[in-house]
Amino acid sequence: MTEKYFAQPDLGFIAQIRGLGGETLKKCYQCATCSVACPIAPENSPFPRKEMIAASWGLKDRLIKNGDIWLCHQCGDCTDLCPRGAAPGDVLSAIRSAAITEYARPKVLANAVNDPKKLPLLIGIPALWFALLAIITIYGKETMTSLFNVFGIAWSHAHEGAEHVIAQADFFSTWFVDLTFVPTATAVAIIFALSLKNFLTDIHENAVREGKTSQTALNFKEFFQALIRVIPTVLKHDKFNECESNKDRATPHMMVLYSFIGLFIVTSIGFVLLYIAQMPGPYSQLSPMKWLANISGVALVIGSGLMIKNRLDKKEEQKTYYKDWFILGVVFSLGLTGMLTEMARLAHMAYVSYFFYYLHLIAIFNLFAFLPFSKMAHLVYRLTAMAYAEYGNRK
Ligand code: SF4
Ligand code: SF4
Repeated sequence: MTEKYFAQPDLGFIAQIRGLGGETLKKCYQCATCSVACPIAPENSPFPRKEMIAASWGLKDRLIKNGDIWLCHQCGDCTDLCPRGAAPGDVLSAIRSAAITEYARPKVLANAVNDPKKLPLLIGIPALWFALLAIITIYGKETMTSLFNVFGIAWSHAHEGAEHVIAQADFFSTWFVDLTFVPTATAVAIIFALSLKNFLTDIHENAVREGKTSQTALNFKEFFQALIRVIPTVLKHDKFNECESNKDRATPHMMVLYSFIGLFIVTSIGFVLLYIAQMPGPYSQLSPMKWLANISGVALVIGSGLMIKNRLDKKEEQKTYYKDWFILGVVFSLGLTGMLTEMARLAHMAYVSYFFYYLHLIAIFNLFAFLPFSKMAHLVYRLTAMAYAEYGNRK
């Protein structure tokens, strides 16, 4: 007997997609030009045409739980060729944003990150927090020293002879910085782990239901092997080179990706040097660590600057929404304030350097604390979906 399926349009979800940049979704008249143009459309599945019809019906579950939406790298080829101006690339991008909000917890934070009215709060809270930490570091030295002595820990991380050098630790205690960011990073890792567990379960269930995989049980060992196999694709940004309209996005994306990898290595080395080798900074400009930090910082500023320029140059063809500006602004500010902090320090402008470092800490907080909720989370979801597609042998 034929299975009956009663579609119940979710008007709330349709409104959400429209609000996130998919306002053209109802223009689609199912001609399938987009499926012919799309470099990732499988031969036996009209991607993204069927996602467009699901979106116009507001079939939330079918879209949010569909791993394919993450394989789209928003090249824009389908949007350029769509005869109706339905902009399927933008609709898929809006669905991905809705999926990030759907899987992220707590929801209130996910909604706040996507709401421009909440921006003053997202900047103001860390601004107040770091201002408080600066005041305690500068004026509470004696109290903090005796407090830390109780636990047998040295309060200051300043090295011998550091009195005549500009050290950010004199303005913001490294203890305070790490006691802010280590728990934040841990909370973010837990949120991501829980979100990804649900996400992976959902895309697997969806793939089984739609016949995209013959493996009904999810084999985690094979999934992790697939994850390792897709990492070179991500590092080479191969997918970007498959598209025609937005090929120029590949270089800035790679610069930002590699600068984050570089800065992650530098931060990890700094952590080991400070807490294990007991070697506090500032470190020599000639050290390989500083070289890597400076190159990564410059790459971050140029890469994110180019991304902003691309968006501004193409504002007629490619719409940019608040979620895009939020993450671009945070990443660019992070790179710029980091470089300005360093330059002011080398120019012996202590308080200018401290001020930029203060702004830098606010930018770092906005990037890390809101990582599971901002557009940056797409890196993690996309990697998971790519690994799942590899695991399920999606063609
Ligand atoms: S989105 Fe555009 S190209 Fe794709 S099926 Fe709809 S009308 Fe055709
Ligand atoms: S934006 Fe590019 S990858 Fe995404 S659906 Fe359109 S053609 Fe395919």
